Amino acid sequence: MTAQIIDGKAMAAELRAELRADVEKYVRQQGQIPEVVVVRVGGDAASGVYSKAILRAAESVGMAARLEQMPTRTSAEELQELLNQLNANSQTRGIIVQMPLPTHLSQQMVADTVRAEKDIDGISPRSAGNLFLGLPSFLPATAAAVMEILARTHTPLDGRRAVVISRSNVVGKPLAMMLLQKHATVTICHSRTEDLARYTRLADVLVAAAGRAQMITGEMVKPGATVIDVGINENPDGSGGIVGDVDFASVQQVAGALTPVPGGVGPLTNLLLLKQAMRGAWEADAAPAV
Ligand code: NAP
Repeated sequence: MTAQIIDGKAMAAELRAELRADVEKYVRQQGQIPEVVVVRVGGDAASGVYSKAILRAAESVGMAARLEQMPTRTSAEELQELLNQLNANSQTRGIIVQMPLPTHLSQQMVADTVRAEKDIDGISPRSAGNLFLGLPSFLPATAAAVMEILARTHTPLDGRRAVVISRSNVVGKPLAMMLLQKHATVTICHSRTEDLARYTRLADVLVAAAGRAQMITGEMVKPGATVIDVGINENPDGSGGIVGDVDFASVQQVAGALTPVPGGVGPLTNLLLLKQAMRGAWEADAAPAV
């Protein structure tokens, strides 16, 4: 068997077009361009790349987007003041605070300050709690991107066995909850799991998000399974490229469908942030004024 390669870029183009139409409709009806704001404190290089990518994605669907760049020495009070201003700004529909923060600032403070209606990356305890309880919630974008791929490929989940390799707060845990809501039988694996292959071989849907280059090989995969590769790792061959957690060459001989890296989950992630911002915008405008 040779797996169907899931084209994340094509899926992203489809989603981008849908979002663009949604933004146009919103601007027509509400007379306002919805905005997302990325807040970055200090100069972490990776967060600089992510910030630019989010701004580009927002502009590509017609949303307004801006970066609030603050210096490393920003105090907790100053950051809180900015977040409160953004909370109060009716045009701002989504606030994304880039991690990592400088060590004197607390992620908890950020999660507690950003209003739940604008927490489009689903980082707050309230968003996590709502997800856990099965209530409407904003979802961490990477986990949401995995679910988007499964939905768009019509991958059956009801009664199927899903194995998630990760218990991280941004990927593994929320994804396990989302799969459970779709009636999959979910197993969460992590670095202490003994005999990982025993679990992965049972998976109808296998999600690899450990951040370990090419750790999932063909003999660890059930024939015909759908394999979603979230990992982004430096290619161990020293070429400077990136590879996923899946050993693509061997897994594609066994799996039924497989996401590549790059070009799988990655292209969808930022669009999922924006999709949630638009959902938030419509919901906020439908809610009675208080
Ligand atoms: P993380 O916080 O380090 O979490 C990694 C998880 O994998 C942990 O639960 C860890 O277990 C588990 N793990 C690590 N090594 C393992 C092993 N050998 N066997 C089984 N489980 C193992 O990482 P993250 O932030 O969630 O990111 C994970 C990967 O996804 C990274 O490669 C990252 O670059 C990528 N990523 C991609 C996107 C995208 O858009 N495609 C977005 C975000 C992240 P413990 O809990 O026991 O430590």
